[in-house]
Amino acid sequence: MHTKEIGENLFLIDLKTGGFKNLIASYVLKGTKAIIVETGPSSSIPNLLSGLKELNVKAEDVAYVALSHVHLDHGGGAGALLKFLPNAKVIVHSRGAPHLVNPEKLWLQSKEVLGDVAEIYGAPEPVPEDRLIVAADGMIFDVGNSVKLKVVETLGHASHHLSYYEFLSKGIFPGDAAGVYLSEFDVVIPTTPPPFHLDIALASLEKLVRLKPKALYYSHFGKAMDAMQRLQDYARQIKLWAKITEEGVRNKERLEAIRERILAEDQAMRRIASFLRSHPVFMKTAVENSVQGFIDFAEKSQI
Ligand SMILES: [Zn+2]
Repeated sequence: MHTKEIGENLFLIDLKTGGFKNLIASYVLKGTKAIIVETGPSSSIPNLLSGLKELNVKAEDVAYVALSHVHLDHGGGAGALLKFLPNAKVIVHSRGAPHLVNPEKLWLQSKEVLGDVAEIYGAPEPVPEDRLIVAADGMIFDVGNSVKLKVVETLGHASHHLSYYEFLSKGIFPGDAAGVYLSEFDVVIPTTPPPFHLDIALASLEKLVRLKPKALYYSHFGKAMDAMQRLQDYARQIKLWAKITEEGVRNKERLEAIRERILAEDQAMRRIASFLRSHPVFMKTAVENSVQGFIDFAEKSQI
């Protein structure tokens, strides 16, 4: 069993990408038709399909596959998944769409940035252009039985990032706009790789807060209540990381030194430092790329 009912008509599938539990989630909303939120990467599509089977979702009943963005761990599996879903369309931001149709460049860049982790995720397959829906802020996707999703454009983590608001539970799928949530520690790690824009990310968080959500459904990983508090805490946390990084850049510190100061000065990070050091995926993808995002942002801001 790797699926879980987490709300009315709402289910989580643990994709167990690369054998890691609680790393990447897909969500399934069941109305008269179904919506899948996030595919995860190509390598774990078989697990997503077995999850759908476990939930008695028929392939032909999936109407939409909603992606927060095209990074491999969120939308990398879209092309591979669509082969199994004859009626599904992929919802994506206009600036993300070209990377789904032609994923070659995204794959090369991912290998460069993520190294071995890209291989764990697997190469993305192309999505046929006629199976894409280019989403705009405020669009609503309805699959019957009061099950519907609203598109909320939340840039910052990427220039093509979307979140989704779910009406029945007043919940939000924040993709990477609200960090990586580690439920076992109740800690959030920022997801701020280059090209990260602090001011835009903060505006997006405010936009999500204005929806007064009750729950967050993190792609990494799982459901959390107290959504308003968590979004506001996250805004504070990324401001702190930005401040520490600005000081570091001014003092010409290297990434490792800035990373170590963040692990020491951010209380939440201090609590999980030893866990992070022993986790190859989180240290590389979450922490180091996020610190690099702040460094680039600080350097750009100084010019
Ligand atoms: Zn991402």
